[in-house]
Amino acid sequence: MRPPHGFVVLGDGSRVRVENTAKLRSTVLAIADQIREHRREIGREIPVRQPAAKCRACGQRPNCGQARG
Ligand code: SF4
Repeated sequence: MRPPHGFVVLGDGSRVRVENTAKLRSTVLAIADQIREHRREIGREIPVRQPAAKCRACGQRPNCGQARG
């Protein structure tokens, strides 16, 4: 059985009652889907185009597949 409400504890320790509505549930599930989608992409390399001089001085050069120069 779905609980009718829950509580969120804020940074100052106060508790806020949150009603468990269909709209809120839909919003939370949509956000969870977005998080899962981004997690699937987390291993994908972000394309960069650094100046060659910067790459030559970079400590990550041996580990980098995009090093230039
Ligand atoms: S070697 Fe790779 S990590 Fe280093 S500056 Fe160049 S692109 Fe960035």
